[in-house]
Amino acid sequence: MFEKVETYKLLAELRSRASRVGEGKLNILLFGAPGCGKGTHSEWLKAEMGLCHISTGDALREEIASGSELGKKVEGILTRGELVDDQTVLDIVAGKMARNPKAPGYLLDGYPRTLEQARSLDALLAEKNSRITAVLYFKASEDTLKFRICGRRIHKASGRTYHVVNKPPKVEGKDDVTGEDLMQRPDDNEQSLVTRLKTFYEQTAPLLDYYGEQHILNTFNADEEAASVKRDVQAVLKIGGQQ
Ligand code: AMP
Repeated sequence: MFEKVETYKLLAELRSRASRVGEGKLNILLFGAPGCGKGTHSEWLKAEMGLCHISTGDALREEIASGSELGKKVEGILTRGELVDDQTVLDIVAGKMARNPKAPGYLLDGYPRTLEQARSLDALLAEKNSRITAVLYFKASEDTLKFRICGRRIHKASGRTYHVVNKPPKVEGKDDVTGEDLMQRPDDNEQSLVTRLKTFYEQTAPLLDYYGEQHILNTFNADEEAASVKRDVQAVLKIGGQQ
């Protein structure tokens, strides 16, 4: 059938299709202080929307667990609750996107955390003719954050999370599915939380203005229970039972 189409028209169509690659992707950014619920909501968003989940925190913890050079370099930074340099996290994000070019969109969890990172992310997406679709800001009081972070327990192999009061495992200290030991993240303690919160307010919170001006910021009351926040998110994204 293509013999009948003039070459210049075919080329024009190809060029137009190439320029549209990346368009229509749903890139969602999860935003908020430690303990706000980014991890909890990333679980159902990635399952229900098939998005490629990019958590810079998870990626850095994997580097530490593997004992890589990068892992050794960043271990102390994570334990203290400080920020890893912008180029390192950009490389992680760009690498994961490059490995998942066909994803229907990206779910960015814990990235960006500085204005510089936000600008780099915009540039990275622009290269793919794409952009951030929505920023979901989970706003919670310091009391809520402290309660959640200090009571959080994790099953390392699966990533399943528990809370000693809100969501206790069936057997104390053990994963419900495997019976293996649960662990506490080394930065999930009151001392690191002070630094993590200070870092959030000083370096990350300015992004609220950045995304507010672009009219893509959606704020949720994350002091509420997860199920209620989920319903609010579904309503904003027009998914699930809220359509
Ligand atoms: P998270 O799991 O998102 O709470 O991240 C855990 C830690 O990883 C943070 O406290 C930082 O030390 C580091 N980290 C994660 N994401 C970033 C980022 N976008 N920029 C700098 N450091 C990060």
